[in-house]
Amino acid sequence: MQFTFRLPTKIIFGQDCVVNNSKEMFKLGAKALIVTGGSSSKRNGSLKDVTDALNNEGISFKVFNEIEQNPSVATVIRGGETAREMKADFIIGIGGGSPLDAAKAVAVIATNNLSPQELMSNKRDKPALPVVAVPTTSGTGSEVTPYSILTVDWAETKMSISGDDLFPVVALMDARYTLELPWDITANTAVDALSHSIEGFINKKATVFSDMLAIESIAIIGQVLKNINPDNITLDEREELLYASMLGGVVIAQARTGVVHALGYPLTYYKDLPHGLANGIIMKAAMEFLAEESPEKVEVVLEAMDLTSIDEFGELMIKVLPKVDLKLTQQEQQLFITKTLQAGNIANCPKKPLEKDINRMLVSSNLT
Ligand code: NAP
Ligand code: FE
Repeated sequence: MQFTFRLPTKIIFGQDCVVNNSKEMFKLGAKALIVTGGSSSKRNGSLKDVTDALNNEGISFKVFNEIEQNPSVATVIRGGETAREMKADFIIGIGGGSPLDAAKAVAVIATNNLSPQELMSNKRDKPALPVVAVPTTSGTGSEVTPYSILTVDWAETKMSISGDDLFPVVALMDARYTLELPWDITANTAVDALSHSIEGFINKKATVFSDMLAIESIAIIGQVLKNINPDNITLDEREELLYASMLGGVVIAQARTGVVHALGYPLTYYKDLPHGLANGIIMKAAMEFLAEESPEKVEVVLEAMDLTSIDEFGELMIKVLPKVDLKLTQQEQQLFITKTLQAGNIANCPKKPLEKDINRMLVSSNLT
């Protein structure tokens, strides 16, 4: 047996964990920049809890609330300049994956004066500032990953930077912030988390250790998605989803993502589909492809979800996800295939997909 397991993030999970653990932020310095989205952190109580915690510890702060969905390089550079000007000691990301990923890139720019191209080259002289992550969606697991995924206009797709310095130092996870998440975002993000655990489980870099977490996460998300009532989601179910998405993050921190994410990025970039939804509509087809090389692993995924076939998996995706009525032109199909084949993460699949495989996934997902 051989594996490496890396998780430097301190995970603190439970109701009121932000205010009850304000000392974790005190350890990081006297000035913080809060990085968040336009409005949800104000509405769900997370921003207030963080500012209360900072006030309790006498930490001064500024709020940079300009993070859009699928954050752009230009936005994180502006955030990084704000952090540098105020001489922030650490960064606090509050929100879904977009603000959390943005907080990591802001933390890089805070210590390194980089151009957009230099930032995306993933080379930096100084490590990023410490990041505290407060997730408010249950999907990306960004609170425990070393990845920051940004929208890169010159490449016309999404690309990631990564590094040990991008693991948040602390993740403060309170499922109450997710209570008012609308059903579509709840479903999309849960499916993103499921895609992390499935991709990480099947990828070449999977280990016995990450597999254990992946199966637990797949089983929880499968169970919740099958039984959930979208009009009445309990706090227990919210906690399960937040926990399982964090496990999915730990899985991809070890084993990375694969073809689902590689093909999902152009669907988001060109067709504006939310990240989890983009993954969800191609996941059944991706499972069919992955089953060619790793039938046993796909079987274990289905078993963990208490499903009998990949078709049944597809039916569950259709049941929970918003309807997508999308047909790609021939030209778009070719572009999507090219972008997918250029993505680094396809190399993590047990068998590297070829042009014909991606094409088959698009056809099988009813996108042609
Ligand atoms: P998101 O883009 O962060 O947020 C989606 C929407 O949900 C926004 O409108 C946001 O509003 C709203 N929202 C967030 N929390 C809410 C809450 N508690 N209640 C009500 N509304 C809420 O969505 P996401 O799916 O979590 O993140 C997707 C991003 O993460 C993508 O860029 C993806 O590439 C990335 N990702 C990263 C990793 C990683 O390892 N780092 C892995 C997978 C995906 P506001 O704008 O007002 O906040
Ligand atoms: Fe993802």
